[in-house]
Amino acid sequence: MTIYTSDIPVPPLPKVGTFTYFFPEKEGDSPLPAAVRDPNLVSFIDGLTGRELKRGELEDKALRFASGLRSIGIGRGQTTCLFAPNSLEWIIALFGFQAAGVCTSPPNVTYVRGELAHQYNNAGCSSFAVAEALLPAFEEARSLFNTPVPDDRVILLSPPGAPPHPKYKSLYQLLLDRGKPERFDGDAAQETIWLCYSSGTTGLPKGVKTTHYNVTSQLQACNTMHTRLDPKKDKTLAFLPFFHMYGLCYAIHQPLTAGIPVVVFPRFEEEPVLRGIEKYRISYAMVVPPVVLILLNSKTADKYDLTSLRSMNCGAAPLSGELVDAFEKRYPYNKIFQGWGMTETTTAATLGRAELITSKELQSAVGRLMPTFELRLVGEDGVDVPEGERGEIWLRGPAMTRGYHENPEANAKSFEGDWFKTGDVGTRDAQGWYRIVDRVKELIKYKGFQVAPAELEGLLLQHPDVVDAGVVGVEIESLATELPRAYVVVKPGTPVATAAERERVSQNIYDWVKARVATHKNLRGGVVIVDAIPKSPSGKILRKDLRVRAAKEVKENPPARL
Ligand code: AMP
Repeated sequence: MTIYTSDIPVPPLPKVGTFTYFFPEKEGDSPLPAAVRDPNLVSFIDGLTGRELKRGELEDKALRFASGLRSIGIGRGQTTCLFAPNSLEWIIALFGFQAAGVCTSPPNVTYVRGELAHQYNNAGCSSFAVAEALLPAFEEARSLFNTPVPDDRVILLSPPGAPPHPKYKSLYQLLLDRGKPERFDGDAAQETIWLCYSSGTTGLPKGVKTTHYNVTSQLQACNTMHTRLDPKKDKTLAFLPFFHMYGLCYAIHQPLTAGIPVVVFPRFEEEPVLRGIEKYRISYAMVVPPVVLILLNSKTADKYDLTSLRSMNCGAAPLSGELVDAFEKRYPYNKIFQGWGMTETTTAATLGRAELITSKELQSAVGRLMPTFELRLVGEDGVDVPEGERGEIWLRGPAMTRGYHENPEANAKSFEGDWFKTGDVGTRDAQGWYRIVDRVKELIKYKGFQVAPAELEGLLLQHPDVVDAGVVGVEIESLATELPRAYVVVKPGTPVATAAERERVSQNIYDWVKARVATHKNLRGGVVIVDAIPKSPSGKILRKDLRVRAAKEVKENPPARL
């Protein structure tokens, strides 16, 4: 067995709750330096309105919200669903839930009825925090909830001063007198505080148990690796969705460890974000590959002064060295560094550092190992491969999830002892830089968002014309993303003799799926009618074969429904 570690020493790993880590009650609660904990520091700025949230205000409002939660019977040991686009209220609510000891499960904001109810039920939620704009989606899903949510446990994340809602209280109406936060000292730091959903290596989306200790270990490690950020000079911006681990951990919490302000946007929209970079003199940004591509080809970027940008961390999906190179030619003042990780690793397990990327070869690397992880590269035969060769990445360490929520079967498949099998294939060079070269898990990534083939296959089998289905991802370089592509076998008698008939059936299946899933799961890579889905003797879909076929077909005939 060859176990790789980092040459950076493991930093202090406190065993306290996430709230206490940021807002210590006593000396020794937090390793964060006093300078970054100044209550007068502006921590978050609403990128659209300019409204500010200071660190002290965040602590105060979160503690008062925690009192409000307790007053309506929401407290430690419970799980809540937080369903809203990025906003300052999202952050206050999250810290309030953390102070009250409530575990937060944040679904994708584009989820429709069945998807939302699945996460609510599977996570065992019993309360619901929601943006007013998403109330219709919530109301539609509500009848499918196993534990009905009474009206007084539905909390609106409306901005301050919004007119009162006739039925539901807002977060601001629940700000009572400030109490004490729940403590998660010692072993209690191993309690779950977030439940984000990931399909892992196979099957349907599962709740990833993220503990206080996972979060604080990740943040502590990140600060040993990361390009140094200075509270007096640096500012970052957040359009990464807070419901995804990358946004949750790196866009909200990591800047708080450095004491730098985060300019918050509800989503990535080119003009407002570019305007925000200029206005706030943003120096550091967290991005995903499709955003790099948009900025690279932007026709409007030249209208703005973006020269404050110094570095960008890109993660969540593959980014080619060529794209990095082209980007840095257009924006020579800014350096891109990559990180690789997953929901299960509480984001990054490897991370680059802008200053260290001194050669072209390193532009495609995903960084070096975080000091809190141990890593193995394991071959198909289960034996560790020699350095330089490709192997599946196995990890263990304090930021590694303790497993999937109430899913012993998935846990048995994903762990070997305490090693987590990531499903990503990588290489390591002699200097300890990693590259991701393949993925052996089923997962498809559309613009950084997870698409679980098993979920779409299960859905396709419910279509009246479909008898079998296999879904794979197909890489579209010009879009810097994969697209989900379905192969389907249709019922005998379905009219598919001519190309026009096949197109009609394929369009019908595409539309039928589109009506039932969040937009990132649309079958943008195409719906192809085939005679049979390739399967192994044991009945498993031969995804590799389908992927090879898909890549070839798409090269010759690019998908039309982008
Ligand atoms: P998620 O849990 O949604 O963050 O998805 C994690 C998966 O995204 C990883 O297991 C990889 O397959 C992929 N991924 C994340 N970061 C990178 C990266 N820098 N390069 C290539 N793939 C990545």
